[in-house]
Amino acid sequence: MKTPRFLLCLILTVALPSSATPQTAPGFVQPFAKTQMVAAANPLAADAGLEMLRAGGSAVDAAIAVQLVLGLVEPESSGIGGGAFMLLFDPKTKKTTSFDGREVAPSSARPDMFLDAGGKPRTKPDAIPGGLSVGIPGVIGMLEMAHQKHGKLPWARLFQPAIKLAEDGFPVGPKLARTIRNFKRGANMPDIKARFYHADGTPLQQGEIYKNADYADTLQKIAAGGAAAFYTGEIAQAIVGAVRAAPVNPGNMTLDDLANFKALEREPVCGPYRMWRVCSMGPPSSGGVAIVQILGMLQRFPSSQLQPGTLSEVHMRAQASRLAYADRVKFIADPAFVKVPVKGLVDKDYIASRAALIDPHRDMGTATAGNPPEKHAAFAPQRSPSNHGTSHMTLVDKTGQVVAMTTSVESVFGSNVMAKGFFLNNTLTDFSLDPMLNGLPVANAPAAGKRPLSAMSPTIVFDRGGDFLLSVGSPGGPAIIGYVTQTVVAMLDGGKTPAEAITLPRQLNLNSPTRLERSAVNDALEPQLKAMGHAVTVVMGEGSGLHGIRKVKGGYIGGADPRRDGVVIGD
Ligand code: GLU
Repeated sequence: MKTPRFLLCLILTVALPSSATPQTAPGFVQPFAKTQMVAAANPLAADAGLEMLRAGGSAVDAAIAVQLVLGLVEPESSGIGGGAFMLLFDPKTKKTTSFDGREVAPSSARPDMFLDAGGKPRTKPDAIPGGLSVGIPGVIGMLEMAHQKHGKLPWARLFQPAIKLAEDGFPVGPKLARTIRNFKRGANMPDIKARFYHADGTPLQQGEIYKNADYADTLQKIAAGGAAAFYTGEIAQAIVGAVRAAPVNPGNMTLDDLANFKALEREPVCGPYRMWRVCSMGPPSSGGVAIVQILGMLQRFPSSQLQPGTLSEVHMRAQASRLAYADRVKFIADPAFVKVPVKGLVDKDYIASRAALIDPHRDMGTATAGNPPEKHAAFAPQRSPSNHGTSHMTLVDKTGQVVAMTTSVESVFGSNVMAKGFFLNNTLTDFSLDPMLNGLPVANAPAAGKRPLSAMSPTIVFDRGGDFLLSVGSPGGPAIIGYVTQTVVAMLDGGKTPAEAITLPRQLNLNSPTRLERSAVNDALEPQLKAMGHAVTVVMGEGSGLHGIRKVKGGYIGGADPRRDGVVIGD
């Protein structure tokens, strides 16, 4: 799949401005680097990251440049109108920290905001488009915070590749073209129609040149004025205007809501897996807790039973996942609003008690949440949402600084509404649309100033000595947790390279039927799993977009998910 695209890049060189053609395409076919590496969802975005690393930038600097280009070339999946989580390993202190740029609900948000007149939750397709689902975008605030603490290059320098590409144009990539073509609902939304459709009603095709002068102008302003130029002034006014004048579901965001946004630095959630240590994002993401729980349960079984794609591995991982997903939907939400029993949920004895529920020979059926040893309020488990507007990148710089960043506009093209050249997220529909279930409040109910529950899981694994070993993350909504754990187990227990682990056919369980991605391996597993009591759903292609890097002797190797347009490049 990759070689033809690589060839296409070469062919396009003839007709396009040179900046719009990936400069480092060879990295694409030889993902090994000695000193620095970028794994990201689009070749142009990865190029921007490597350009910063080559200019002496840190992994944080490079991640910022990657994000700004992604917002142009992969706008269906992430951008400055969305939110993100960044996990960062600092080799100087050997500490891992995380930055929370999750969107925040505006002051007008209410628990019943997604209920219809009869008090029933609206459907997702009904609630997503327009202004009501838009949270205060967190990406720019978070990137500025990370840059102030860990950046080396001037802030404005990081904007240059994206500004140039937005002005000169770039060839529409396979995934963007496919997304526009398949996203029929978008054709009715004026911003999508104006940007991605020709006057005759045909969608933009792969390879056609797309420019975005509004985005270039927006980036110029943020480059010059910092995050303040995004959260106040002309850009903030455009965001508020777009939310309030949305063609459907107008919202009530205010200029004060934007001016009050604050990114946060948080402790990541870490735990052991055999001889390794795994860190990922804590609440408001459920990723860290769930991954530490799943791996904590799995480490009770020998590696020999966890070889990738074997019946025992798929079964055991499905069981541990069921238990973790059951806890996820009950206990995890914005910790500023509910007491999340993080310590209790990753407590060694609690995890052991959950692992004891696993029968190695029989599917347990729907798991229920446990009773972690930490006080918390009584909550009802929410129904789990699922979406597809996310991107993941992993980067390592010359000093060994590692960034794993998962970034999202939530659904495809977010809320489908644009302000000044970028899409606004629909992340408020990551709240439970039901604020109450079975007479109990839902921890992740909407509220003013609250961050919705996420599953985004930028993850870093350390070796016995506490040094960086590998990092991975993915889009995919709640399935992210399953994608990441499968990949980590395949690398650690199965000895797979990142590229091999990322390419494996997916099997996962979100505490519902076991999901198998159509493939020869899974076709063979299906009857065997059914014989063990699994209900099975077969899906044609999973929505993972895993990008990862692993340290090896003499350098790094990486992997990019063939399900998307990603690349791994480095020096
Ligand atoms: N908004 C989702 C979350 O934060 C991610 C959606 C996706 O991965 O596409 O969990």
